[in-house]
Amino acid sequence: MEKLNQLYEGKAKKVYATDEPEKLIVDYKDDATAFNGLKKGTIVGKGVINNRMSNLLMQKLAKEGVPTHFIEELSERETLVKKVSIVPLEVIIRNISAGSFAKRYGVEEGIVFDEPTIEFSYKNDDLGDPLLNTRHAIALKLATKEEIALIEKYSFKVNEVLKAFWASCGVTLVDFKLEFGKTCDGTIILADEISPDTCRLWDSKTGEKLDKDRFRRDLGGVEDAYAEIMKRLLDSYEK
Ligand code: ADP
Ligand code: UDP
Repeated sequence: MEKLNQLYEGKAKKVYATDEPEKLIVDYKDDATAFNGLKKGTIVGKGVINNRMSNLLMQKLAKEGVPTHFIEELSERETLVKKVSIVPLEVIIRNISAGSFAKRYGVEEGIVFDEPTIEFSYKNDDLGDPLLNTRHAIALKLATKEEIALIEKYSFKVNEVLKAFWASCGVTLVDFKLEFGKTCDGTIILADEISPDTCRLWDSKTGEKLDKDRFRRDLGGVEDAYAEIMKRLLDSYEK
């Protein structure tokens, strides 16, 4: 496997072509952004943690029947993945009120829902990732009705699996964002990453935030929180 030219540099990762057209290499950076790129910074060691964590969680999900883009971890920061055309939807699942949900509906953070919620936003930085419903997504031809039904089914399954796993680590899975893509044969698979950048993870006992909110909200101890959440994952993984 040969790493070829860089195809894309995003806010958190770089993406490279390989000598196999249906495979890409993603390279995780320590760069952190928030508020649609307005706040910028570095979280030392984040790329290494997010790469490892995302790969371990995706392998767990694959075992539970959620197909993912993961192929092989190549180094501390690099992973070989299946190339997909990203469905331009950010899928957000919530178990507990927080962040933009709490703000939008004028409620406090920490309300535990009876059932998880799902919401979609249109992955478009210029428009600020506007919220939309499934009929909007179909009208805009971002995905078909069948694709959206599958994405919803997979997303709730991801929640079930990860909620239980994080609970075994003494961590509450509050909410998270997923991205899906289509492989060359049209199969929908989970892509992008699952990490403290894309999930809210609270210590189950103390409620301490162990995710990117420490960076977004200037809470301090950002690197320590990433290291702690990784340690919790490794202590419970495969037990
Ligand atoms: P952003 O584009 O939001 O700044 P990143 O820095 O994480 O985000 O860049 C990674 C990019 O690669 C994202 O646009 C993501 O949608 C895309 N991506 C993730 N996984 C795959 C994949 N398997 N195939 C193609 N593109 C992918
Ligand atoms: N999220 C993400 N990328 C985004 C927006 C949200 O990974 O572009 C994640 C975020 O980390 C959180 C969940 O999705 O775990 C819900 O985020 P929310 O809608 O509350 O937005 P925020 O408060 O981050 O603006």
